[in-house]
Amino acid sequence: MKIFKFGGASVNSVERIKNLGSIIKSYNKEKLVIIISAMGKTTNGLEKVASAFFKGNREEALELFTAVKNQHLTTAKYLLVLQYNECIQQLNDFFTEVEWLLHDKPVRNFDYYYDQIVCTGELFSTCIISHYLKEEKINNQWLDVRDLLRTDNNFRDAGVQFEFSAPRISAAVNEYAGNITITQGFIGATDDNESTTLGREGSDYTAAIFANILNAAELTIWKDVEGVMNADPKTYQEAQLIKELNFNEVIEMAYYGAQVIHPKTIKPLQNKNIPLLVKCFLDPSLEGTIIHHKHIKNLPPIIVNKDHQVLMHLKTKDFSFIGEEPMSALYQIFGEIKVKPNLIQTGAISLQLCLDDHNEKIGLLAEKCSEMFDVQVEKSLRLITIRHYDEKIIQELLSSQFILLQQKTRETIQTICRM
Ligand code: ASP
Ligand code: MG
Repeated sequence: MKIFKFGGASVNSVERIKNLGSIIKSYNKEKLVIIISAMGKTTNGLEKVASAFFKGNREEALELFTAVKNQHLTTAKYLLVLQYNECIQQLNDFFTEVEWLLHDKPVRNFDYYYDQIVCTGELFSTCIISHYLKEEKINNQWLDVRDLLRTDNNFRDAGVQFEFSAPRISAAVNEYAGNITITQGFIGATDDNESTTLGREGSDYTAAIFANILNAAELTIWKDVEGVMNADPKTYQEAQLIKELNFNEVIEMAYYGAQVIHPKTIKPLQNKNIPLLVKCFLDPSLEGTIIHHKHIKNLPPIIVNKDHQVLMHLKTKDFSFIGEEPMSALYQIFGEIKVKPNLIQTGAISLQLCLDDHNEKIGLLAEKCSEMFDVQVEKSLRLITIRHYDEKIIQELLSSQFILLQQKTRETIQTICRM
C-alpha cells in the first residue's frame, strides 16, 4: 500500500484536478490512500468567514462563504457530467451545515468556530475529486476522516488519539475491496463529534499518520517543485535539488522554518521506517527527493530562514547571577505560556531568547519575566540557519548582515539578524 498526499496547489484548478486523475491512473493497480488538502486558497477564504462570523458580521460571513461555495460549484460543473448530481447533493449537505452555523450567534470561543467552518474546505475538495475519479472510471471510496481520526478538543491544534484512530483507519481502508481510498488531510473530530483541525498545513501530518497506521510501503507528497531544495529558490538563486535526505536532516530543516514539509510529518514515518518521497505533480517522471533513514554524506549547505523573530533580552535586576533558580523559574514560564524559544544564549547576569513573534504570547512572556528580570524586546528579526556550512557560504550569506547573535556547532550555524 502507498499513501499519496496532494496539497492545495495541486488541486487549485480544473486542469490540475485532471492532472491528478492522470497520475492516479498510472498507479491504478496498487492499493492507494489519497489524502487531499483544500483547493488553492480555500482555507484562507474560510478563515475570513470564521473571523467575520465571530465579529458578529453575519451578512459578511455569508457573503464570503457564498464566494467559496460558488468556486467549488463551478469546478464541479466543469469536471462532472454523470456524477454531477450526486456530487452537488453531497456538497449541498456540507454547505447547509456551515450556513446553519453562520445563522447562530457565537457563544463559544473563536477556535471552536474556526474548526467547524475551516474543516469544510477539505470536505469540498475530496468530494469533487472522488466524483471526478468515478467519472473517469477510477473506482474509489470516499471517507469522512472525522469518523476515523479522533483528536482531543484543542481546537486549531488538535492532538491525535492514536489508540482510537488506528483500528478504525485500518478497518475502513483494508475492508474496502477496491484499490483507491480518498480522504481529507488536516481535519479530525472529538468524541463529541465536533470537528477539529491539526494546525495550518497539517495535511502532510495526516498523510504520515495514515502511513504509520497502515504500515505503508511509502508516502509520496506531490508538490509544485522538483523536490526538496537546499534553500528557498525565491531568495537564493543557486538553490539546488537534493535527491536524498535523512529523516534527521529534514526534521531539523522543517523545525527551523523550511516550508517543504510540515515538521510533524517526520516522526510517524521515522518510527516505522517508511520512506517519504517528495515529487512534482507537474512532471511525475522526475525523480524528486527520497527521505529515509540512511546516513547521507556530502550534503551541500542547507539554508533555512525563519522570519518574524523576536529577541528578548533578560538581565537580573541586582547584578546577581542567573543561577538554577531563576533558570528553572524561566522554563516553568515557558511551559505555562506554551512558548518554545528557537535559540537561547546564557550569560552570567543576562540571557537572550529568540522566539517566534506571536504577539500575545510575547507580551505575556515579557510581563511574567519582568517580575525577575529587566526585559527588552527587539522585533522584526530573521533567524538564518545554515547546516553543513563552509566559510564560503558564511561569507556569502552573512557578511552583509547586521548580526545580533550567533551560535555555532560543528554541523549548524544559527544567526539572528535584522529582516
Ligand atoms: N488546507 C490546510 C491549509 O491550507 C491544510 C493543508 O493544506 O495542509 O493549511
Ligand atoms: Mg497546503
